[in-house]
Amino acid sequence: MIDSSLVIFLAVAAVLVIAITALALSKKSRGKVQSAAPVVPAKAPEAPIQTSQPEVELAEVSDVTEAEILGTVESKSIPVDVPESMEGRKVKLRERLGRSQGSLGQAFRQTFANSTIGEAAWQDLEDTLIMADLGVSAATGIVESLKNAVKKSGASSADELQEIAKSELIKLVDGGFDRTLHIDRHSDRPAVVLTVGVNGTGKTTTTGKLARMLSSQDKDVLLGAADTFRAAAAEQLTTWGDRVGVPVVRGAEGSDPAAVAFESVTAGLEQEVDVVLIDTAGRLHTKQGLMDELGKVYRVAGKLGAIDEVLLVIDATTGQNGLMQAKVFSEVVPVTGVVLSKLDGTAKGGIIVAIQESLGVPVKLVGLGEGPDDLAPFDAADFVTGLLG
Ligand code: GDP
Repeated sequence: MIDSSLVIFLAVAAVLVIAITALALSKKSRGKVQSAAPVVPAKAPEAPIQTSQPEVELAEVSDVTEAEILGTVESKSIPVDVPESMEGRKVKLRERLGRSQGSLGQAFRQTFANSTIGEAAWQDLEDTLIMADLGVSAATGIVESLKNAVKKSGASSADELQEIAKSELIKLVDGGFDRTLHIDRHSDRPAVVLTVGVNGTGKTTTTGKLARMLSSQDKDVLLGAADTFRAAAAEQLTTWGDRVGVPVVRGAEGSDPAAVAFESVTAGLEQEVDVVLIDTAGRLHTKQGLMDELGKVYRVAGKLGAIDEVLLVIDATTGQNGLMQAKVFSEVVPVTGVVLSKLDGTAKGGIIVAIQESLGVPVKLVGLGEGPDDLAPFDAADFVTGLLG
């Protein structure tokens, strides 16, 4: 009797030991995949290097190829779910904006609720627009153009006034900008997109969300984690890579971000992907420092072919202050589009107009939350419809 209990006890203990050992081993080997498998820096094709950025000194390339790159992580370890369609994202844009920009929409609706609009109502609207971060001159400009449009049309019903307001606002927010995202593969190389901006604005999150959005459009994407200053950034991007099922090129913490950017484009060329998305660091210590770091990433990543998009991420909740910081970035790299993040967390959507006016660059995408599909292409008509209902 005692013997048989002892045998059972020993058997159970043995099974437990085996199970625990197996679990520990599997964790260890997963850890290795994340950080090992160094990629031998591939030789970049000769011609594009010579022709794309001739002003860059060759010494910079050799620095870069010697830097330590941890490797390309094939991120396929967790099941990949289906990203939201572009149409679904547009619907979300309208719904979320209606909700988060309630006070702005309400101000317009109130102004146009009566068939005649008095001077006090115009003044109230102007005040609300200024408070919504539109900037004084833009706010005054909108009210003036609305006043003129109302006078010219002789509109007398609230509905007519609302329609005039809608079309004037669409004109203003649209600003005639081309919002095309340049993410189509060239005949011989991938499109390359850099995400830049002050730390904390949502660069890494936006890069991950964008990878997911492009995957939903059947594009092959590769992520480059060139924010090597923030320990968690590469980890965060790798998690996005896992979610989306796309490879991530990353470097050791503190390694040269330009090296990671260069290796990302090289890996993208080798793997013949459609788009390489590179997340960068945004330490805003001095303009010279930023120029040295980010300027170099831009030049080096562009050695294998010109960069297609430089997306500047601006946190909508930081308002005019965020805009000032963004200006510094736009002086360091040629920004081609703005991603306005955290638009779900503020009623200050007026910043869109101020950004476009002061940077001369269109808002191309908006971030509407922390979820994986909370990124939508920006469209002036959708925005205004969301605002005015
Ligand atoms: P980075 O330092 O610029 O790379 O910023 P992160 O990508 O790490 O984002 C900073 C914080 O902002 C994180 O907590 C994100 O989840 C959050 N975030 C990013 N985009 C959005 C957005 O569109 N809406 C909201 N509500 N939060 C966001």
